[in-house]
Amino acid sequence: MSVQVLKIDWPFGAEPPKLFCPACGTLVDDDNEHYCEHVEFIFIPETDDFHYESDGFKEISEVFRNAIDNAEEDSDESLVTMHEKLLELDDQGASFIMDVTTSGMACGPVSFKVLYGFTLYKNKEQL
Ligand SMILES: [Zn+2]
Repeated sequence: MSVQVLKIDWPFGAEPPKLFCPACGTLVDDDNEHYCEHVEFIFIPETDDFHYESDGFKEISEVFRNAIDNAEEDSDESLVTMHEKLLELDDQGASFIMDVTTSGMACGPVSFKVLYGFTLYKNKEQL
């Protein structure tokens, strides 16, 4: 089964939402970089890079990164971004992704997107 994506567009100008882990209720705290074991990754599409990756997820993203880096130049594969790779994850990589977009005024209207990858169960052997 492929990963499911929950898209959340936060109201324009509203304070960014506080996110809590759906599995254990821990605050997903970007300021203190404190994340519980269920957070697999935090990804910023604008830079096509990770803000945070769990140790387990680094193995998966490494495979994606190698595939992107080693793609034949000018091939379709060379145009694939990490963002697109994440959306092709199966549910062993993450149970689901929260795709949160916040927006507000800076020098004009701006929006900012963050993808949070969660795993709801950690002991897959027990399933
Ligand atoms: Zn948790």
